[in-house]
Amino acid sequence: MSDWLHANGDAGVWPDTWYAEGLTLPAPRPPLDGDRAVDLCVIGGGITGLSAALHAARAGLSVIVLEAHRVGWGASGRNGGQVGSGFNWDQPRLEARPGTDAAALWALAEEARTLTIGLIAEHAPEADFRPGVLSACLSERELPAYAGWAERMGRDYGTDYEVLDRAGIATRIGTEAYAGGVLDRRAGYCNPLAYVLGLARAAEAAGAEIYETTEVIRIGERVETGSGHVSARFVLQATNGYAPGLTARTAARVLPINNYIAVTEPLPTPPMADPVAVADGRFVVNYFWQTRDGRLVYGGGESYGRRFPSDIASRVRVNMARVYPDLAGVRLTHAWGGTLAVTATRLPYLAEVAPGLFSAGGYSGHGLALSALFGKVSVEAMRGERSRFDTLASLPTPALPGGRVLGPWAAQAGMLFGAMRDRLVR
Ligand SMILES: Cc1cc2nc3c(=O)[nH]c(=O)nc-3n(C[C@H](O)[C@H](O)[C@H](O)COP(=O)(O)OP(=O)(O)OC[C@H]3O[C@@H](n4cnc5c(N)ncnc54)[C@H](O)[C@@H]3O)c2cc1C
Repeated sequence: MSDWLHANGDAGVWPDTWYAEGLTLPAPRPPLDGDRAVDLCVIGGGITGLSAALHAARAGLSVIVLEAHRVGWGASGRNGGQVGSGFNWDQPRLEARPGTDAAALWALAEEARTLTIGLIAEHAPEADFRPGVLSACLSERELPAYAGWAERMGRDYGTDYEVLDRAGIATRIGTEAYAGGVLDRRAGYCNPLAYVLGLARAAEAAGAEIYETTEVIRIGERVETGSGHVSARFVLQATNGYAPGLTARTAARVLPINNYIAVTEPLPTPPMADPVAVADGRFVVNYFWQTRDGRLVYGGGESYGRRFPSDIASRVRVNMARVYPDLAGVRLTHAWGGTLAVTATRLPYLAEVAPGLFSAGGYSGHGLALSALFGKVSVEAMRGERSRFDTLASLPTPALPGGRVLGPWAAQAGMLFGAMRDRLVR
């Protein structure tokens, strides 16, 4: 049993997020009972797993999805909603790495975002995708680098990023906290729970079976749950931060961390005149956007142990007040935490860990856009089309220094240092 799956919240119950309000939540799907044989067994009903299920079922494979709680219970249904561009490494950094096909990776990241926006439009229009993600920097001395990067991306990759200075940002989003930034209007934001629930409906309509409250305990000759077994030609571990330990290779490379979000009451004077999603350049990123009814969905603040803090709202409020001092005392109607996963390089992890056994995750904060594609290319590899899978699987995600036991501790110490630097340097 994975501790991260049971450390916070009620088993089999979605957290009380603002995203769930106004959605018609589906009735529970039954748990798996007994033994089954299929082409593909997917472990985890988040975007990675459900996208794989959808694409496999469309290709004629028989598919079972096993989800420990409810579909979208994990990070996919409770994240910051930002559908970004690219990877955690920018293109110049990928280009500089010997043997890396940076252009192919950019094309895949572009496809990931387009695929996500297309899935939302087709299966979950109520997720209400809106364009615009602003990457904001805190100090004037960072601004030339942002502007140079935007110019280079336009020249080499055809992007049309808009560079903003402090006044330009203040006019749009109502804060002078940022020295400048780059606005990407191809990226955007949405209600992620609506998206993942729509993806589950689409996977079922294509023929996949989904079992909820069904935790996988072990992957051996068969996939083993508390109440049944699945024999499958292919297995996809799509458990991200909640159960990397199901396979040893993944456990050595994919590290769970927790992150937090709070939502304000509808504000009498919402700060954003030109609503876009914002992510800033701190080591522990602040990210936020404004809802149509004038709330702020505000995320940020990490912790590296399993348990969420008892007062998530206060924790988020501190960060929000640095950017919007006038909102320091505003009422927060919702606050929740979630578990995501990072790798040592902050690049996503994709592997065939044993013949027919695939694993994807560790998106390091970029998973809302990337995860649908990682599910899709995993299915391509199962069907013998390996080139795109191999390109993504070649991204470096080395074992965490210190190995499977000490690695998470060493990595957590590094992240604590980064978070402390945020507090000292800014
Ligand atoms: C607070 C927060 C904010 C974030 N903000 C953003 C953002 O704005 N933009 C962005 O791109 N990314 C963001 N992310 C990251 C993003 O949400 C994830 O990368 C993405 O959702 C990963 O999807 P997934 O399907 O791989 O994993 P998950 O959605 O976590 O799904 C894994 C599923 O597997 C199930 N599971 C685990 N173990 C087992 C088992 N043993 N048996 C059966 N089922 C199991 C879990 O219950 C879970 O439902 C954020 C994450 C968090 C937590």
